[in-house]
Amino acid sequence: MAAVVPSASGQAQKPNEANDVQLSQIHAATEAPEKAPGPFLPVNRRVGFAIVGLGRLSLNQILPAFATSDYCKPVALVSGDRPKALKIAAQYGIAVSHITDYAGFEKLKEMSGVDVIYIVLPNGMHYEFVLRAAKIGKHILCEKPMANSTAQCEEMIAACQRGNVKLMIAYRQQYEPMNRALEKAVREGKLGKLRSIVASNSQNEGDPTQWRLNKQLAGGGALPDVGIYCLNASRFLSGEEPNEVIATLVQPKDDPRFKEVEARCEVIARFPSGMTATFTSGYDVHRSAFLRLEGTDGFAEVDPAFGYHGSKLRFTKLMDGKDTELHPAIEEKDQFALEMDHMAVCVLQNQQPRTGGEEGLQDQRIIEAIYRSAREGRLTSIEAPAGATRLGILPPLE
Ligand code: NAD
Repeated sequence: MAAVVPSASGQAQKPNEANDVQLSQIHAATEAPEKAPGPFLPVNRRVGFAIVGLGRLSLNQILPAFATSDYCKPVALVSGDRPKALKIAAQYGIAVSHITDYAGFEKLKEMSGVDVIYIVLPNGMHYEFVLRAAKIGKHILCEKPMANSTAQCEEMIAACQRGNVKLMIAYRQQYEPMNRALEKAVREGKLGKLRSIVASNSQNEGDPTQWRLNKQLAGGGALPDVGIYCLNASRFLSGEEPNEVIATLVQPKDDPRFKEVEARCEVIARFPSGMTATFTSGYDVHRSAFLRLEGTDGFAEVDPAFGYHGSKLRFTKLMDGKDTELHPAIEEKDQFALEMDHMAVCVLQNQQPRTGGEEGLQDQRIIEAIYRSAREGRLTSIEAPAGATRLGILPPLE
């Protein structure tokens, strides 16, 4: 791993500017300038990641994302399926000595080059493995939702403080350029005063035996798995924290998939400024995902939203007396590479991740208030967090 490079200005900076390589511009000044990717950190100085859990997200998204990461490399695997781990290790150039199972997790402590442990296990296992990773002194990137309860989240934060390790929750959309452009537009008042956020994130689950439908392993149903994207977006895009929620759950009694968890969750969250966020999440409807921000002077819409690829952003506002649609050309980037690179920069430059444990804890607080509201059938208040929940500095948008 590269030596720690403190950020002198306090501004996020790329750790490898010196190795930047650019091609000459061959198009006229009327065209957008071309930029080569990178600058990439040389392989022998990259931040080493151990991937824990070789399921869908690890195989389909996270491991392929290392190919476009600027600063990270996969160096170790933790899996209960050794034949699978051997195949994946060979594909990504990971040494056989750097494969272990869950019982042998603590072997990561002695494995050379392991700087960050990325927990990609069912939600109900995040708590145990974050605690175990903190105990062996490794930095941690943990998938969303952070855990199954606020008590677990608080313990995870405390364990990472005790172990003097960084903890980041993998809220990939906060590192994604379209969401960042939207956040900037809201901050700059491009939509006027934000009044309302409306969002949906749903999919149709099949196999009733999968962990996502098991309360202990998942923590809940559609809400903590897919609804959390709408919830988190309403917080980071508005820059506000909800102070009240009212919610209702649907859990059909005759559907074997929903014996333990909700099929759908509908939420209205109220924010101190008077803004509201209304969102729905479902496990029993065809894939549907959109996000709309309504302001006094215009609206912005991402549709589809929350996916790995293919999000589309448009703004509508009055220009020259006419309602005008704007479609900013924002280049798609691999969200997992961006997220892991942020973690790597925090490790290299000894900074706090933007989406640390407090950000995950706050979502969990609201999730608990949503479940309480649905159970009791009334508006439920939420205490404001003690301080800012998003800390880190991000590199400027390109
Ligand atoms: P998955 O079921 O495909 O993979 C889970 C892995 O955990 C498998 O390799 C499985 O063998 C292993 N595992 C170990 N112990 C297990 C147990 N007791 N029961 C079940 N599996 C066990 O799940 P996934 O879709 O890869 O999700 C993993 C995590 O990533 C979850 O926390 C999920 O919320 C999160 N996730 C995040 C995103 C995102 O966009 N950030 C997308 C999907 C999933």
